[in-house]
This record gives sequence, C-alpha cells and structure tokens, in this order.
Amino acid sequence: MTLVLSEKCNFSCPYCPQRKGKNTLTIEDIAAFLDFLQPRLARTVRLGFYGGEPLLSLPLVEKTVAYAEKKYKTTFRFALTTNGSLLQKEHILFFREQRFTLGLSYDGMAQKDRDAGSVGAVESALENLLRLYPAGYMVNSVFTPRTVPLLAASIGALLKRGHQRLRFALDTCVPWRRADLAALKDQLDRVAALCLEPRRKTRGNPLENFASKEKKGVFACFAGRDRLALLPDRTVWGCDRFHTLFGRDPANPDYARYCFGTIEEFMSKSAKALAAEAANYAELRQDYFFSEKKELCSLCDDLENCSVCPAQAALATRTLAVIPSWTCRIRRITRAAATRFT
Ligand code: SF4
Ligand code: SF4
Repeated sequence: MTLVLSEKCNFSCPYCPQRKGKNTLTIEDIAAFLDFLQPRLARTVRLGFYGGEPLLSLPLVEKTVAYAEKKYKTTFRFALTTNGSLLQKEHILFFREQRFTLGLSYDGMAQKDRDAGSVGAVESALENLLRLYPAGYMVNSVFTPRTVPLLAASIGALLKRGHQRLRFALDTCVPWRRADLAALKDQLDRVAALCLEPRRKTRGNPLENFASKEKKGVFACFAGRDRLALLPDRTVWGCDRFHTLFGRDPANPDYARYCFGTIEEFMSKSAKALAAEAANYAELRQDYFFSEKKELCSLCDDLENCSVCPAQAALATRTLAVIPSWTCRIRRITRAAATRFT
C-alpha cells in the first residue's frame, strides 16, 4: 500500500511528473482506509510513504506507524522515499527503530542540475545513514539524456564512499536520441567495471539494475492487483502513478476506468464492483504492450526478460500500453549490460 501524504515538496526537480498542490491526507483518512482494508490484508504488508516530500509530513508518518502497530496484528514493513534534504539524525534513529526501508533520491554529480543548494544537506544525510543505519537504505539516482554522461562517475563516487545499495533510473518522459543511447551504453559498461570490485569483496551486487531476475515470465503491472494507493486528494488508485497520469483530469475516460473513487466511494462499493474495477488493471501486461510503430511486445524474443511500467511509458506516449521507442532501446541496452556484468 502506498500513502501519498501530500502534494507539497521543497524541490522542483526538472524530471518530476508530479504537480504540486495543497492537498494533504489526515490521520483520520489513513485510519479509515486501513480500517476498511484490514480484514482483507495479507499477514505481511508493505506500507510505503511518498509525497511530494514525505518528511514535510513527518508527524503524519509517526501517527500512522503508531496507529498501525497498536491496532492490527498485520506485520507492516514500512518504506519511505525522500529527497534527503530534510533528513536529520533523529529521523534516522526513528526509522531504524521502526525498521523502515528508506529510498534516498540523490543524483550524484547531476544533483547540481536538480537543486544546486541541496548537495551539502543530502550528502550529510547520506553520511549519517551510512553511519547509523547502513542496512536500511538504498540510493536512487535519476539521469536524463543531458546528465547521462555523469552516470558512471556518480555511481563510482557513491561506491567509493561506501554506499552499498544503489540503483539508477532514467527519465523516459523525454526522448532519448541515438547519441544519448550510445552514451548510456558506454556509461553502463563503465559502471559494470566499477561494480566488479565491490561484488568481489562483499559477494553482493551493489547495483539493483544489474540484479539477475530469478523467475522468468511475462511481466504484469501490480496496480490494483496486489497494490493500492491513497492520494492526497483522498482518491484511491491501483498505483499512485495512475494518479500522476490521470488524477488532474476527471473528464478523461481513463480517470473513471482506473480510479476507485474517493475513500468514501471506495469503501461503499460492493466487493463485486471493486473486483470489476480492479479487472481494468489486469490488461496491463507486457505481452499486450506495443511500440508507437505498432511493433508488438508479444513478438519480441526478449519478452520474458522485459518489464516496462505502463504508466511511466504513457507519460511520454499519452496512451497506456504504448511504449516509446527509446524506452524499448533503453531496456535492451540495460539488460545487455546486466547480462555482461553477470
Ligand atoms: S524489449 Fe521492447 S519490444 Fe521487447 S518486450 Fe521490451 S519493450 Fe517490448
Ligand atoms: S508497473 Fe508502474 S504502474 Fe504498475 S504497479 Fe509498478 S509502478 Fe505502478
């Protein structure tokens, strides 16, 4: 489950597709949502806090944790994704006590492009994490066609400072030209070389993007199937990314198709009605996807190794199930680099 606590953020990252606003969840909203779902929950549930910047709503995180732990037998595994600029030692100690998994978003040498004034604060948060809670966090770095030449040096610097769990993401909302893709390939070869030594020392793979997929099979989006999200405007979706796509456009037919309604509407629907709405998400499988040129993923010889987030792809193509050509190329380049590394 994902709780997007508010639309407020202290950054304005150039690649962020979310729009800022004033909506914020309350503990009453969250309690009602959890109370309704509780009889239907698995024994262990991953509960993720997102924003905006969730540390701007820290009291709400604390209240939710206290409520969930006191009221339910379900084991919650908490996760929180932050830009790190507000992360202080006392927060880290709280997250460690509650055994949170933290995702810290830091773009390495490209951070200056994102928010020049934040570099010192985020690097200090990273040092504190390394010292106080080394097992509890992962660093995620985002690169764009413009900043991709900084990818290998950024990952290398993070490894050198001792951070052991890293991943990178690429901004696929904008086109990647042939030269950008060639730069990506070159950078990934360099990254693979940089990761060899840490892998030899720890027997672990420091870069999540290079992890080998244990089970092969056709990828299906998790939204609405075993994932739900509550948004700051009090609407419920199969995944928060669908709200990013359609949440500001209630007149769009896809809004009605993928939104379960406000919390009250969601809770008043019969199980049958909810199942029928959830079924709309079931069509979002990799073998149903195709490129802008109508090339079908179902005919791709790499189908079982590929997983493209349909909502992310639609941010570029504006149509669900349609994948931009550069996303397909990026997938192939990344998988080839991962295979060489393995
Ligand atoms: S590599 Fe491209 S064509 Fe093949 S499954 Fe992935 S997105 Fe579809
Ligand atoms: S694939 Fe994308 S839309 Fe589907 S659950 Fe994952 S992040 Fe959400």
